[in-house]
Amino acid sequence: MGFDLTRFQGEVDEELICPICSGVLEEPLQAGVCEHAFCRACITEWLSRQPTCPVDRNAITTANLRSVPRILRNLLSRLCIACDNAMYGCTLVLKLDSLALHLGECEYNPKRPLPCEKGCGFVIPKDEYKDHNCVRELRSLIHTQQQKLGELKVEIGDQNLTINELKRELQLFKDFMRAMRVSNPVVSRSIADQQ
Ligand SMILES: [Zn+2]
Ligand SMILES: [Zn+2]
Ligand SMILES: [Zn+2]
Ligand SMILES: [Zn+2]
Repeated sequence: MGFDLTRFQGEVDEELICPICSGVLEEPLQAGVCEHAFCRACITEWLSRQPTCPVDRNAITTANLRSVPRILRNLLSRLCIACDNAMYGCTLVLKLDSLALHLGECEYNPKRPLPCEKGCGFVIPKDEYKDHNCVRELRSLIHTQQQKLGELKVEIGDQNLTINELKRELQLFKDFMRAMRVSNPVVSRSIADQQ
């Protein structure tokens, strides 16, 4: 899915618009022959349903897609876009190619991970912070870990059974070898020599 056109400052060249979603190209790819460009997600989804270019119906498959020319990428990266979190109060307008970096640290991001200040050790999305309850979180952590511990105990029990079985088999084999040696010293010696 491309970027919503309303988020951009100034004119956006028509060549930078995805014909499928009508947004500004996101991770653009172009069709080999006709050179029409689309968002990666848009064209991938489209081609999964029909093997044609959405603009001119030329036959194409995902194998015909290639990256767009550098000039197009440069034009895209210079566009100025409002932060995803504008509706939460971020007023920043930045170059498209620095958007991803900013989103990682935008303090208006409602999902920005915050470490709990009360010391429980959890990192919580900002919008869940006010409902965060250390005791409740820790209790559910203990619960899941107890479950895991229980599963591990069962697993260890199973493995001990297998080990005991193997030990028993080994003992039987040793007994058998001993019996062989006693009843037929010549054969057993030659077996021993071969080993
Ligand atoms: Zn698109
Ligand atoms: Zn085309
Ligand atoms: Zn922001
Ligand atoms: Zn906490």
